[in-house]
Amino acid sequence: MTAEDDEHQAIRAAIRQLCGQFPDEYFREVDAQRAYPERFVDALIEAGWLSAMVPQEYGGSGLGLTAASVILEEINRSGGNSGAVHGQMYNMGTVLRHGSMAQKQKYLPLIAAGKLRMQAMAVTEPTTGTDTTKIRTTAVRKDGRYLVNGQKVWISRVQHSDLLILLARTTPLAEVTKKSEGMSIFIVDLHQALGRGLTLRPIPNMVNHETNELFFDNLEIPEENLIGEEGNGFKYILDGLNAERTLIAAECIGDGYWFIDRATKYANQRVVFDRPIGKNQGVQFPIAEAYIEIEAANLMRFQACALFDAHRPCGAEANMAKYLAAKASWEAANVCLQTHGGFGFATEYDIERKFRETRLYQVAPISTNMILSYVAEHLLGLPRSF
Ligand SMILES: Cc1cc2nc3c(=O)[nH]c(=O)nc-3n(C[C@H](O)[C@H](O)[C@H](O)COP(=O)(O)OP(=O)(O)OC[C@H]3O[C@@H](n4cnc5c(N)ncnc54)[C@H](O)[C@@H]3O)c2cc1C
Repeated sequence: MTAEDDEHQAIRAAIRQLCGQFPDEYFREVDAQRAYPERFVDALIEAGWLSAMVPQEYGGSGLGLTAASVILEEINRSGGNSGAVHGQMYNMGTVLRHGSMAQKQKYLPLIAAGKLRMQAMAVTEPTTGTDTTKIRTTAVRKDGRYLVNGQKVWISRVQHSDLLILLARTTPLAEVTKKSEGMSIFIVDLHQALGRGLTLRPIPNMVNHETNELFFDNLEIPEENLIGEEGNGFKYILDGLNAERTLIAAECIGDGYWFIDRATKYANQRVVFDRPIGKNQGVQFPIAEAYIEIEAANLMRFQACALFDAHRPCGAEANMAKYLAAKASWEAANVCLQTHGGFGFATEYDIERKFRETRLYQVAPISTNMILSYVAEHLLGLPRSF
C-alpha cells in the first residue's frame, strides 16, 4: 500500500465513523420533514472535513482534490447526501484563486474554522438557463457600491449559508466584444442582504435539497466585495468548474457503490421460487453490469483528480468523469430499485430517496447534454452548435 493509499484509507475510515453516527433513520427522517441535516453538517464542519481544501496558511487542511473527493464519496457511500454540504468545500476556491489578499484574510480563516459558511453560488437564471452569458441580473457601480437588480433560480443552500457568490452583468451584452466578457462575481453577505434588497422564495422539489428563487431589487453590495477584476467573472466561475464536476463525480461514485451494495445484499437474501433471486442471471447480470460501469467511471474520476492536483489541464477528464459517474450511479439506482421489486418503493428501504438524489446529477450542476457538447466541440473538433 502506498503512502497516498494510506492517507485515503484513514480519511475513509474517519468519515465512515462520523457517518455511522447518522444512520439511515436520520436521513429518512430529515427527508420526510424536508429539513436540512443540521446535526450532520455541523458534525462535518466541526471535524474540519469541509475545509479540507483550504490551504494550511489559512487554517485549513490543505488537502488536494483527490483527498477531498474521497470525503464526499464516503458521505454518499454511507447513505448520506453531500448535496447539503459540497458548496462549503469548493466555493471558497473562487476566493482563494481570484480574491484579493484582504478578502482571503477576511474569509478563509473563518471558513477553515467552521465559523463562516460559503455554501451558495448564484449563476442560473429563470429566463436564460444554461445560456449563462445572457444573464439579466445586473450590478451597476455607483458611489463606492454596486446596485444589483434581477433574479436567480435554483440557488441552493442559501438558507444555510452566511455568504453567497453572485454572478451578475456589469457591462451590457451589447457593449462587449465577447459575450463571455462583462460579467463579474461578488461576495454577498446574506445576513445583510436578506430583507434589504434580496428576497428569497424556496422551491419545493423532488429531492430534499434546499434551493431557492432569489429576487434582487436594488441590493447594495460594497465595492470591496467584487472578486478579482470587474468583467472577468465568467472566467472565474469557469475556473472553479473542474473541481466542482470532479467532486460531484465522486459523490455519484459513492452513491453507485451504495446501490450495488444494497442490491447485492438483497439479491443474496431474498428467496423467491425457493432460491435467492440473485441466483437468476436476469437479476445478477444487471448488478454486475452496473458495478463494471461504476468502476470504469471511478478510473476517470481519479484521473481528473490526479491531473487537477498536478496543476495540469483537466477540463476533459473532469467533464467526462462527471458524465460517466452520473450515468453509472443512475443505472445502479435503477438496478437496485428493480432488484428490490416492490420493496424498493418503500421509504424504509432508503432506495427511493437515494434514487431521487442521484437522479439530480444528470441535470445539475451541468446537464448531460452540455458535457456531450463540450466533448464534441473541444475534444473532437466538431462544429459549435450554439
Ligand atoms: C436541485 C437543483 C439545485 C441547483 N443548484 C444550483 C445552484 O446552487 N446554483 C446555480 O447557479 N444553479 C443551480 N441549479 C441550476 C442547474 O445548474 C441548472 O438547472 C442546469 O444547469 C440546467 O439549466 P436549466 O434548468 O435552466 O435548463 P435549460 O438550460 O432550460 O435546459 C433544459 C434542457 O435542455 C437541454 N438543452 C438546452 N440547450 C441545449 C442545447 N443547445 N443542446 C442540447 N441540449 C440543450 C439541457 O441540457 C436540459 O436538459 C440547480 C438545479 C437544481 C435542479
